[in-house]
Amino acid sequence: MSDPHELKVLNPATEEVVATVPAAGAAEVDAAVVRAARAQAGWAALAPADRARLLRRFADTVDSHVEELARLEVREAGHTIGNARWEAGNARDLLLYAAGGAERVLGRQIPVPGGWNVTFQEPLGVVGVIAPWNFPMPIAAWGSFPALAAGNAVVLKPAEATPLTALRLAELALEAGLPDHLLQVLPGHGAVAGRALVDHPGVAKIVFTGSTRTGREVMERCARLVKPVTLELGGKSPNIVFADADLTAALDPFSFLDNSGQDCCARTRILVHAPVYDEARALLADALAAVVVGDPADEKTRMGPLISHGQLDRVRSFVPEDAPALRGSAPDGPGFWFPPTVLTGERHDSRAAREEIFGPVAVLLPFADEEDAVRLANDTPYGLSGSLWTRDLGRALRVSQAVRAGNLSVNSHSSVRYWTPFGGFKQSGLGRELGPDALTAFTETKNVFISTEGPVQ
Ligand code: NAD
Repeated sequence: MSDPHELKVLNPATEEVVATVPAAGAAEVDAAVVRAARAQAGWAALAPADRARLLRRFADTVDSHVEELARLEVREAGHTIGNARWEAGNARDLLLYAAGGAERVLGRQIPVPGGWNVTFQEPLGVVGVIAPWNFPMPIAAWGSFPALAAGNAVVLKPAEATPLTALRLAELALEAGLPDHLLQVLPGHGAVAGRALVDHPGVAKIVFTGSTRTGREVMERCARLVKPVTLELGGKSPNIVFADADLTAALDPFSFLDNSGQDCCARTRILVHAPVYDEARALLADALAAVVVGDPADEKTRMGPLISHGQLDRVRSFVPEDAPALRGSAPDGPGFWFPPTVLTGERHDSRAAREEIFGPVAVLLPFADEEDAVRLANDTPYGLSGSLWTRDLGRALRVSQAVRAGNLSVNSHSSVRYWTPFGGFKQSGLGRELGPDALTAFTETKNVFISTEGPVQ
């Protein structure tokens, strides 16, 4: 029986305990929110240039700890060391980008009769950020850093399995000189600490990243307090490959294998133009066989383990042993390993083709023509991301307009860049993170009218 007051962090590659961390209850959440409100008042009163300077110093501190943070992420989340270094660098880069924004939270002057009218973008107060385990560092950063830059305090609840890098980031914030309690990290269970944060009247906004099922509950609870919420939820994204595409680039298996497929943007529905289906299948078979799966701390490894035993069981449930599939290899022994897999015998309405698996598993499906490709791509409750591959410019423009998803890439598999807005259509989410408007999402607009008529005599 596990102790509800603590969290055991396991190394997913070895199943060894990396750390044991206390789990916050509702009382700890309440105390953290009270402290955060006090810290926020002082932070918002600082000149924007001073907030920016402190955030840049925080970025420098993260920069000098990139390797340490990356090694910690390898241990707690099983990310490959190359990916983990990128993730720590992403947190640093976003801090610098958001720091620039702190000095540019602009209002507007709007012409009206009888006076002057100005708007202000004011900080919300205390923001609650709830993060999942799949990208612990970047997602903690995307929710928290723009909120801090806009003048808010943050209470962050990391996922049960992966609290360590978030805790370390909060220590680095203090080391860099950010005020006490401005960025607090409270590890805890979703049903206890997560709910307490969502329900707390002192928390002005929730940024939630996780499954669509939990996101729905978070939104319902926020509705009771009319609390704004940003939701970054699940995905089942298409990779649409037309016959004229560069097939080798289009069928790069890391479009769905990155982070062992535990990526909300993973292109797990590979939709291939029927005339090149057989060629695509052969290319994928070779590519899967070449993927190096193993110790994530080894520089040569391209794919590590899944996060947990539970996740391994879930992924297995989509791939019966006799399912027609292309398969790579994975280590035996301790650790939560699953081989890279492409299911080839699925219909587009089967469970594996419709539900988010969150493992290194994609389905390969043929389409007849452009209209069919768009129909299949859109036939899902999700709409997070997707790729399309063609050398025909007109087709690229038509299809990118027709696909209902928040983040598309043409002749590329990229999804997330801190310079550009990120978020989902349909049941993949609500609101946007990152990009030039990231700070605005953490402000309220205040309108002030100043009469030029003078006081009434
Ligand atoms: P999850 O929904 O189980 O948990 C996410 C977080 O919510 C965790 O911190 C958890 O403790 C907390 N939580 C759980 N129940 C809660 C409750 N009742 N109230 C408040 N908080 C609660 O998701 P997960 O399994 O950790 O993450 C995987 C999911 O996240 C996938 O569906 C994936 O697609 C999604 N995701 C989306 C994005 C995006 O940007 N759209 C990014 C990464 C992951």
